[in-house]
Amino acid sequence: MADRYLDLVNAGPAKILAKKLGLPQPAVLRRYRPGAPLLPGPVLVLGSGSGADVLAKELLGWDLDVRRHVAPKERLGGIVLVLDELAAPEELADPMLTAGSSLRDLAPGGRIVTISRPATGTGQPAQAAARQAVDGALRSLAHELRGGATGNGIVLGEGVDAGAPAVLGALRFLLSGRSAYVNGQFLLVGSGVASLPADPDRPLAGKVAVVTGAARGIGAAIAETLHRDGARIIAVDVPAAGEQLAQVANRIGATALQLDITAADAGAKIAAHAAERNHGLDIVVHNAGITRDKLLANMDQAKWDSVIAVNLASQLRMNEQLLASGVLREAPRVVSLASTSGIAGNRGQTNYAASKAGIIGMVRASAAAFADAGGSINAVAPGFIETDMTARMPFVTREVARRLSSLQQGGRPLDVAEAVSFLASDAAGGINGQTLRVCGQSMVGA
Ligand code: NAD
Repeated sequence: MADRYLDLVNAGPAKILAKKLGLPQPAVLRRYRPGAPLLPGPVLVLGSGSGADVLAKELLGWDLDVRRHVAPKERLGGIVLVLDELAAPEELADPMLTAGSSLRDLAPGGRIVTISRPATGTGQPAQAAARQAVDGALRSLAHELRGGATGNGIVLGEGVDAGAPAVLGALRFLLSGRSAYVNGQFLLVGSGVASLPADPDRPLAGKVAVVTGAARGIGAAIAETLHRDGARIIAVDVPAAGEQLAQVANRIGATALQLDITAADAGAKIAAHAAERNHGLDIVVHNAGITRDKLLANMDQAKWDSVIAVNLASQLRMNEQLLASGVLREAPRVVSLASTSGIAGNRGQTNYAASKAGIIGMVRASAAAFADAGGSINAVAPGFIETDMTARMPFVTREVARRLSSLQQGGRPLDVAEAVSFLASDAAGGINGQTLRVCGQSMVGA
């Protein structure tokens, strides 16, 4: 579904008029293109500690122009604020205000990333206050950015240094065009083993991935994106979607597996298919999902049960079967589709929101089992995404949902797929049990 308003306000007189009238001005987002520069200009690294020095050196190795001080009027591609040594709230003023003085020089599609530490319940109150203050400051700054620029944060887990490969993996994702529709979010990077790809344009080279619900929409975009990034794909969907599934599979040289994921042996069937055709499996993307919306007062058991069965119970069962099957190779990575409805709730979606909130609980509680297997399990929670599903919404509801985010537009299936591909890669090895929102910093449940 095309966002005609976005096209309109990015050309000619309508652009000037929208500005004058104070209307939303959604920007064309800077999305990833293989071979394109990581950032649209130099990166300013702020922070006086050793973490800032280490990161500045690493960024130089990525062929970026790195600045450690503000150069007046220089167009910047990004600003990295290294705040890992904060001990008291007063220390936040200098880096924040320095970043603020450079915001007018940030290029369209620019990136702000904070690097900080978690405010745990056991530290010094002043230190915890300073660390938590980063959260509020970054989320507010992300609301203020324009021109498709975004602001996100990396939180360093216990014993993780700013220069750890897992941090660099997350930083590269957040600076790149792959994170175009991720805004105002934090990624907690723990001590899980991560490695950066030899070729940043093919981070999934040599991997085998299964994607459920791959016949259309977000699932088809995920299958295509994982394939673009180097993976071989097993595309799964219900027999009724067989023709569309075959078309997607043919486009990307995937094998198609017609399967209802609610079948009691769905996980075993996927394992058998992967063992036979690909000699193993590295990545599982649980994307298939359904909605059966009704106000709870009008909800019948069939609507409730079918949503929980497809969106949640099937995944629990498949994960168990896949872990037990022996088909998963070293460092298996699972990515599940949640939804912002599962975080904020949504009228008419008690069943759907229950299933999607359940996913968030499932990945959190499954993290240890996948870490034991050398891998990880995470969720992606999309907000408003331009798909057939959202195209069917009434016009006004759709317009409101689109504009009620910092980026003032809906995301594309590709934007969700990029986040899935990142979490499925070994560069994301430090991220486990988490849910990443891909919602343009939607005001819903923000
Ligand atoms: P979609 O309805 O376009 O596609 C879902 C696919 O899953 C279909 O091809 C369908 O045939 C398949 N599927 C359904 N039940 C299945 C089953 N039992 N076995 C195998 N395959 C089955 O949906 P979409 O908009 O592309 O959404 C994909 C995922 O993203 C879903 O989990 C959805 O809840 C989630 N999501 C979507 C949005 C959005 O804005 N579109 C927002 C948040 C979350």
